[in-house]
Amino acid sequence: MKVTLADYCIRCGLCEDLYPDLFKRNYEKHCIDVLYDEIPEDKQERMRQAQADCAVAAILIKE
Ligand code: SF4
Repeated sequence: MKVTLADYCIRCGLCEDLYPDLFKRNYEKHCIDVLYDEIPEDKQERMRQAQADCAVAAILIKE
């Protein structure tokens, strides 16, 4: 599983607040970083939850 954030991410920070093991605010680049290039098996369900929680559906998952 690979994850990217869409350009239309509004940088609300909710994903980092709820899933700090998966996302981190990047204050230099004014974006949100996904902490893994390849999402580990044991975090994939949490990533799907994060995708569902994002209000603008900006978390894009490629299986
Ligand atoms: S919750 Fe969605 S819109 Fe908000 S920062 Fe995360 S990816 Fe972007």
